This record gives sequence, C-alpha cells and structure tokens, in this order.
Amino acid sequence: MRLRMLGSGSRGNSALLSADETLILLDAGLPIRQLADRLAGARIGHRGIDHVVVTHGHLDHSRSAGIIAKRHDATLFCADRYFHHRAFSRAPEKRQLPDSGRIELEARPGSDPSPVVRTIRVPHDCDPTLALGIEHRDRHLSLVSDMGEPREDVASTLKDPHVLLLEANHDLEMLRSGPYPQALKDRVSGSHGHLSNDQMAIMLTRMVGPRTHTVVLIHLSEKNNSPELALDAARAALTRLGRPEVRVLVAAQHEPLDPIDV
Ligand SMILES: [Zn+2]
Ligand SMILES: [Zn+2]
Repeated sequence: MRLRMLGSGSRGNSALLSADETLILLDAGLPIRQLADRLAGARIGHRGIDHVVVTHGHLDHSRSAGIIAKRHDATLFCADRYFHHRAFSRAPEKRQLPDSGRIELEARPGSDPSPVVRTIRVPHDCDPTLALGIEHRDRHLSLVSDMGEPREDVASTLKDPHVLLLEANHDLEMLRSGPYPQALKDRVSGSHGHLSNDQMAIMLTRMVGPRTHTVVLIHLSEKNNSPELALDAARAALTRLGRPEVRVLVAAQHEPLDPIDV
C-alpha cells in the first residue's frame, strides 16, 4: 500500500491510501477546493477514488465526504448513525462501518485481493468515533485519532502496523497556559477529547511492534502544540522501547507529506 497524507489538524484531516489500483480516502475534512487541489497534486483524476471511509461526524473529518464521493462516484463508509449527516447527503451510495468488526472494501476489477478495514470505537465527544486498521497483501496501517484517553483494547486490536497514524493533539502545559477558554481546555483534555503528547506516547508504546517502520503524528493543534514537542515525545518513547530507528513524521495542515510506502 502507499499512503499520502493530504493534510491534518483541527482545520481538516484527509489521507489517501492506495492498495494496488484501489484508492481509499481516509476522512475528508479538508475544504473541498483544498481537497481537490491536493488530490490533483497527487495526480488523482476524475473517478479515481473508489471508497471514502470516515471515522466520525466532526466536520474536520467529514466536511467534504459527500461531495467528493459524488465527484468520484465512490462509496461512502461510515457508522450508520451518520447516514443522515448533512455533509454526506450527496454521496451516491453509503455503507455501514461496524462499531467494532471488519469489512472488505471492493477491489477494482483485476486488482484483487480486497482491502480489509478493521474498526474499533474510541472515547470521543462525537459518538461513535472509530479507529481504523487497513490491511492489504499482509501490509497493515492503523489510524488512531480523536481519542480522549489511551485505551488498551484499541491498542491491542490495531497494534503492530507497518505504519501507525497516531494523534498528538496537544502539549498539556501549552494547553493549560494557552488562549482557549477554560471550558474548551477542559473538553480538549477530558476523557472524550483528544490525545496529549504524553497520552500519544502511551499509545505508541503499546502499539509499535516488530513490523512498525513509520509513525506519523497527526491532528496537531496549531495553538496548543508544536511539531518539536510532539516529535520529542514520540522519539523518547521509541528510545525507551529500544526502537529508535523507527521513522517519525509530523503531518501538517498546510501541505501534504511525501508519499509513504506502507
Ligand atoms: Zn478532529
Ligand atoms: Zn473529532
């Protein structure tokens, strides 16, 4: 598989995963013009995307899902609770992602086998929010974001991927001393908010395994975190694990990352 991080942060999240010829969009929260530009930059043409998989209903993940599914005649996968979400109304076809389970995504003709998506529910203030594992030809990618606190069941279900996309939303000190109103600080740091750098390090320690070669830190807050602090926390955790050679990247809001071979 090959991954392209199109953009990540509180203003929109989206990544493109190719499994042979089958193209899967993971979340579609970038504004539609930006999403279309970044897909064009990745040379994805008309009707290039086969499936749009959305983790939850917050707009920074769902905003453009229906319109991009319509443009590409793609199938939209989400929890059935979101079937009537206004951002999804234009999707030509919707299918249910289970709260906890596995489904196959249809492969392009001549491009078997089908990619498999594994799901598990995470604590977040938009319920259900799903963490995802995607498997194809014995390669594994895990996506864990928008999660209020570390959870052992999530780590064990999706552990030891080749590539791990993991939320590193905020540095607790920066959040505490930062500009957000107290109620928002409480929401972000609460058990149904977002992972801090320290909580990311706990999940990283539980999830990195012998196969893992790359960790991508995602959903960084521009006000309450810095790439340096998040990288330091991840590298320290990998050193404690005895895996300092694992590559760590930080996804940005304003530009895509270079493609990553899973
Ligand atoms: Zn989010
Ligand atoms: Zn969210």
